Amino acid sequence: MTKMTTNPSSDAHDEGSDEASERPLNFVQALIEKESEPQVATRFPPEPNGYLHIGHAKSICLNFALAARYGGTCNLRFDDTNPAVEEQEYVESIMEDIRWLGFDWGPKVLYTSDYFEQLYLWAERLVAKGAAYVCDLNAEETREYRGTVTRPGKPSPFRDRTPEENLDLLRRMRAGEFENGARTLRARIDANSPNMNLRDPVMYRINHAHHLRAGDAWCIYPMYDWAHGQSDAIEKISHSVCTLEFENHRALYDWFLEQLELTERPQQIEFARLNLTYTVLSKRILIDLVTGSHVSGWDDPRMPTVSGLRRRGYTPESIRSFCDEIGVAKFNSTVDMVVLENSLRNDLNRRAMRRMGVLNPVRLVIENYPEGQSEKIECVNNPEDASSGKRSVPFSRELWVEATDFLEEAPRKWHRLAPGKEVRLRYAYYVTCTGFERDDATGELTEIRCSYDPETRGGDSADGRKVRGTIHWVSIEHALDVEVRLYDHLFATPTPMKVEEGGHFTDNLNPDSLKVVRAKVEPAVAESEAGVSFQLERQGYFCLDGIDSKPGKLVFNRAVALRDSWAKIEKQLAQK
Ligand code: ATP
Ligand code: MG
Repeated sequence: MTKMTTNPSSDAHDEGSDEASERPLNFVQALIEKESEPQVATRFPPEPNGYLHIGHAKSICLNFALAARYGGTCNLRFDDTNPAVEEQEYVESIMEDIRWLGFDWGPKVLYTSDYFEQLYLWAERLVAKGAAYVCDLNAEETREYRGTVTRPGKPSPFRDRTPEENLDLLRRMRAGEFENGARTLRARIDANSPNMNLRDPVMYRINHAHHLRAGDAWCIYPMYDWAHGQSDAIEKISHSVCTLEFENHRALYDWFLEQLELTERPQQIEFARLNLTYTVLSKRILIDLVTGSHVSGWDDPRMPTVSGLRRRGYTPESIRSFCDEIGVAKFNSTVDMVVLENSLRNDLNRRAMRRMGVLNPVRLVIENYPEGQSEKIECVNNPEDASSGKRSVPFSRELWVEATDFLEEAPRKWHRLAPGKEVRLRYAYYVTCTGFERDDATGELTEIRCSYDPETRGGDSADGRKVRGTIHWVSIEHALDVEVRLYDHLFATPTPMKVEEGGHFTDNLNPDSLKVVRAKVEPAVAESEAGVSFQLERQGYFCLDGIDSKPGKLVFNRAVALRDSWAKIEKQLAQK
């Protein structure tokens, strides 16, 4: 119930909110600014039946940012009306994720279950005035009577019970006299309305189930459509922002508010939900991925969940600026995953430390470098941020380099290692390839031999001689051996949601979404902390996996590969 605050640990790098103020108004802001004295009270109303995903993050950013912008409040309200699927683990993960994203809902978490008594009293009020009735049709019959968009609905045979009879039955429903599914309470609106949501919707169902918070106090539970608008009204929500699929429910919410003669009427505003390529943003499918062991859990770094993105190395700033950049629209569309990846690259490029690590190692021996000698090479921590300083990286006669940086028969434009070619070892020396060895049996490259020019220390030649290629390296004697997990899209097709139209979601799973390699990294990588990404030069952004790492067995996730930045550096170096 307080204003949004941004994460204090991140304010130095927080660009999301500054940039936001320079953008043109989104349509929700434009609506609010038409009001003479806008009073803004929003809420984020998750159902605790799963972990939050990046689509929820869009809704969170929108609601909390509106409150912050107009000096209002944003509530966190758990929509806990269905005990069958809700769990405390989800409640806690949702709170953790919202806090991590940098938002603060104030001192009190709210729950729809706090309003169960009020909602029930209101239901009795509707019954008393003939606006609701107890119906004895079972679920299947109710569906049958309701009709479809093309088939008319017909009135329930129980529609014309007297208010007295209805009140008696409703009280007995609450008292636990009837079995699950035996009766429902329904709004008495129009059995054949063109809007299906108005065809006498169910308000209460009988469910003898233990509720997370209400315990065994209730055996009837309100339907979402009955609870939602009234909960907003109780909290005096001014702008009830929701996704487009609720547009057709608005008439129902308004009907309830009118029948109850509530004067606080939240204004419902619908916006397009986020869809992203190569993933799914549907809790139902995400649950299936977890329970079917297609991923290691809700926080598997391939999941589009907030916890998965966090574990993978995404920052709250990058997610906020992504949500800001994609904007808020009235029509559904699908955002390219590249947009999300780029917001992470943009964020980390400015603040991630640079390190060197070799993912596909092969030994490189510098034949004219003294055996047993080593030295410290000064390396820049972040060329984008002078304040980040330098570190020393140990250098010696034998190094790990990428096997993919060597070609035996290189084309003319190859600027990396090949027999007779000279390249720069990043920040260190020029080396010229003098030979190589292969395994007789497999043909696999086992060693590259070079000579180095001691006059090129620091990576520049005194005589102005230029080399085009620069490669990274790690001293074998000093290298750390770590596990690195390289990720690709969870789904092989850009719009896996299409499987909802027929096939099964597993049809489109990408079998190569996870590749595990043993990598060799420079010693400074040992100081990594989970959640703090660094750049392995030329390889992308990585962070320590806080869950699977153990002393002596470090595991790193690649959050995202680099795009063009290395090509740019090589070009700059070549022009020097
Ligand atoms: P799912 O469809 O994944 O099951 P949901 O809408 O049922 O999600 P809720 O817990 O009810 O899950 O969602 C809480 C809020 O988040 C709702 O207000 C909903 O409109 C919003 N939301 C859910 N998915 C998205 C999305 N993809 N883009 C934007 N907002 C979303
Ligand atoms: Mg929902």
